[in-house]
Parts: sequence; C-alpha cells; structure tokens
Amino acid sequence: MDRCPLCFGTFQKPKLLPCLDTMCFTRLDEYVLKHARASGTFPCPVWGLELPVPDGGVSKFDDNQHIKVEQTLERALAAPGGHVPCETRMRERPFGVLLKKLLLYIFIYL
Ligand SMILES: [Zn+2]
Ligand SMILES: [Zn+2]
Repeated sequence: MDRCPLCFGTFQKPKLLPCLDTMCFTRLDEYVLKHARASGTFPCPVWGLELPVPDGGVSKFDDNQHIKVEQTLERALAAPGGHVPCETRMRERPFGVLLKKLLLYIFIYL
C-alpha cells in the first residue's frame, strides 16, 4: 500500500486533495497552518500545485474512501482468528445462494 508523503507512515484519516494526492488529516492540517498564503491557497506538499484551503479547513477535503476500505480490509484479514469480511464469505457460500442474490439484483435494478 502507498505511504503518506508527509509522515511516510500508513495513512491516518486519509484526505484526498483536489490534485489527487492523499495524506494524513493531522499532518496535512499542520502543514496547511504553516504554509497557507494570505490569498487562501497552499502549495501541495507533493508537487507544489497551489490548492485552495476549503471553507472550514482541511477537514472539508474529501476522505480517501478507497484507502479507508483497503485499511479496514487489511485489519480484518490480519486480525487473529481472522474475521473474514462478509463479501469474502459470500464467495464461499453455496452457488445457489449467490444465484438467488443475483436474481434479486436483476429483479430490483432492471
Ligand atoms: Zn501521514
Ligand atoms: Zn498534490
């Protein structure tokens, strides 16, 4: 998995910037406090692209849901005794159950 460009660790509350870089919320918050310009922008810590500071601050940037899901999945798989996420369990269920689910989806969405 990718590492955070600000702390070089795994992401904590990953925030997705408009330039598509991702970094930890707290690190980004500190960074923006230090580097925000009077004009209301700050340079992206990765490539230096000028980005607007959102109204309400860094917390208003989108969460990187993709990384969050990945982390949740990794934690689940790494847990002792292995909690297997429901989606994985689904694959192990008898084919008939999946078929019923599929037919239900078709019924609902078509
Ligand atoms: Zn970080
Ligand atoms: Zn960037």
